Amino acid sequence: MGATAKKIPDRDDALGAMTGARYIESLKDGREAYIDGEKVADVTTHPAFKDMIHEMARVYDLQNTDKYRDDMTFVDSESGTRTSVSWMLPKSADELKMKRRNSELWNTHTWGQLGRSHDILAPYIIGMMHRKDDFSAVKNPHCDFGENLENYYKYCMRNDLFLTHALGDPQVDRSETVQNEQRDSGEDLEVALHVVEETKDGVIVSGGKQLSTAATHANECYVSLSATFARRSDPNCVLAFSIPQGAPGLKALAREPVSRWIGTWGHPFRMLDEQDCMLFFDNVLVPWDRLFMLYDATPMVKILGAAGGSVNFNFLGWANLCRAYVRMRLMTAVATMVAESIGVTQYREVAAKLGEMVTYCQVWEHAMEGMEHEAGPSPSGQWALGPGRGLHIWFAQVSGRMTELLRQICGSGIIMQPSENDLANPEIRKYLDKYMRGKDVDVEYKSRLFRVAHDLAASSYGLRQDIYEYWHGGDPNRNRINLFRSYDQSDMIDQIKELISKPLPHGDAIE
Ligand SMILES: Cc1cc2nc3c(=O)[nH]c(=O)nc-3n(C[C@H](O)[C@H](O)[C@H](O)COP(=O)(O)OP(=O)(O)OC[C@H]3O[C@@H](n4cnc5c(N)ncnc54)[C@H](O)[C@@H]3O)c2cc1C
Repeated sequence: MGATAKKIPDRDDALGAMTGARYIESLKDGREAYIDGEKVADVTTHPAFKDMIHEMARVYDLQNTDKYRDDMTFVDSESGTRTSVSWMLPKSADELKMKRRNSELWNTHTWGQLGRSHDILAPYIIGMMHRKDDFSAVKNPHCDFGENLENYYKYCMRNDLFLTHALGDPQVDRSETVQNEQRDSGEDLEVALHVVEETKDGVIVSGGKQLSTAATHANECYVSLSATFARRSDPNCVLAFSIPQGAPGLKALAREPVSRWIGTWGHPFRMLDEQDCMLFFDNVLVPWDRLFMLYDATPMVKILGAAGGSVNFNFLGWANLCRAYVRMRLMTAVATMVAESIGVTQYREVAAKLGEMVTYCQVWEHAMEGMEHEAGPSPSGQWALGPGRGLHIWFAQVSGRMTELLRQICGSGIIMQPSENDLANPEIRKYLDKYMRGKDVDVEYKSRLFRVAHDLAASSYGLRQDIYEYWHGGDPNRNRINLFRSYDQSDMIDQIKELISKPLPHGDAIE
């Protein structure tokens, strides 16, 4: 099938921008995935995964079309390979704009629904590249961690791989003592991912990770520590690396699908159930050249400290910001269309709710413009967006509010709609036409529109999306605390101290 049909590229390959067919083929790599008690023979044909995989493949094909090639791909000057802009290290304001455009396209074509599209982990790895020297500063006789990172970046970039990540420990015991470190309690010490032994080829690791979105259909997983778990006293639990999903001993357990509805029309977002997985590492070999950190968390603590708990937010920036923006606009437009379809837009209460949704969209637009305006070169020569940590945290709460508003505007219609089979049944169709139509819209239009609202705000799919938005950046409270601790208020505090340090200048005493 030629070079482009390779499942797993070799280290020196440069297969270039991913195509749909190559992506689908790449997932037939012997990966071990489980769902609902069943071992999955082929994720690309399994009903729980195939829709999502084909959606990804569709966007990969788009990036190779005449229409989008120049927006979504670029030529790597060192290798001459044309690959995805998601993997571009931006070195100027124009390149940062290209990245914004690419993120807008990825998210517009997937409705802002994919927390883990191809466009998310690529910028994440790029963000780490910016701190390459910190990784090199930790010495190991087997490898240079910073060099490993750079080589890995080039490998992913030139082969346009799709990555996910896994950072947190299993949710077994969140009390004060970190898992694996309960030395005196007699507890099982092997819950968190840890080094079992070193070999000449690499380290053998075992343990669990909770959780990893899209692990069933990503090429590789970047495994590391979250801000919550970065400070560990057991060095065996300190490690960061990347591993192909098909690596022997790596098992992924997928949750129940959140959208099982079938039918020609059905619920439209069922194809965007991106899945979430527990990862179990059972004596998995991580080769030396795939390790970025081992036994010493200094580089990660430094990164997390600098970014206030969110790794290199400035580089991840466009991917997540554009996604949130598309999602907000989608929710607002659906709410508006629903309100119009049942004739309630005129009511003050409904219009104010729609106005609240528009307010969030507009604040987001302003913030994105501001971050672009504040962009500039980083010490490592990359072009980074201006600060936006607060925005990231804010979305965790705004997303939930928008879902609530959409649900409130819909009333009972969000659940009370005929299915496609109901619409096709002549025995009841006349009742549907009469009693289930809307204001100036027929029953078909109305029920299909409301099913979109149901997907977003009432279905198990919609609830999963909401849960994702709340948690995916890590614990929002931890992030707020980190932001609070790093936020410079000294000028205002000094002004207040000055104010209360002496009597008012014109302060005639009131008798
Ligand atoms: C849909 C979804 C997708 C995700 N995708 C990914 C992914 O792709 N990759 C990845 O690495 N992670 C992913 N995550 C994980 C996400 O980062 C975590 O959910 C988040 O960091 C919270 O951790 P937890 O779920 O283990 O909750 P826990 O930490 O167990 O928290 C449970 C409750 O206890 C509270 N709590 C816990 N510890 C403390 C403490 N020390 N002090 C006070 N309160 C505490 C929390 O606030 C919360 O209310 C995903 C999560 C979700 C829900």
